[in-house]
Amino acid sequence: MGNHRLQPPAPTPADELCECLSVTAVLLCYALVPNPLRCATCNKEVIPEKLRLTAAQIEMVAGWNNFYGSVYRLWLDSGEYENWAKTELNTIASPVNQRGIKCCETLSETIPVYLWWFQEYGERRDRCPNCNHRLIAAFNWDICESCRILVPNERLE
Ligand SMILES: [Zn+2]
Ligand SMILES: [Zn+2]
Repeated sequence: MGNHRLQPPAPTPADELCECLSVTAVLLCYALVPNPLRCATCNKEVIPEKLRLTAAQIEMVAGWNNFYGSVYRLWLDSGEYENWAKTELNTIASPVNQRGIKCCETLSETIPVYLWWFQEYGERRDRCPNCNHRLIAAFNWDICESCRILVPNERLE
């Protein structure tokens, strides 16, 4: 029991990969796995081959994922760095978010890509953290189209 925690991660199971015939928009979302690219429609992981990304774009995504993940895991650790990490994740000007926005801009030359905004369970936000314009409903969440930011507000029934 628990030995798996010290072993390399298993590949993403096939049923957790996007099977949509065509992917029209992508989310850049750190999810504790090597690939942060998720289909905006089904929310499953999209293999990079399906998006026809260039080698430089893939390098950028992998770099952002490690960088963001370092801060995200300090938040998850709930220890000495928790508050610092939460502030970084919640602040538009922080390097993790600025690099994320840059990454989305670059990838959007190929396909629209939105940065998944850090939000703790139960939090809601009506305005874009970057430009402060009102968010609009898109996919299953709320987005700012011009800033390419997606805020995962829970849908109120
Ligand atoms: Zn999909
Ligand atoms: Zn905005």
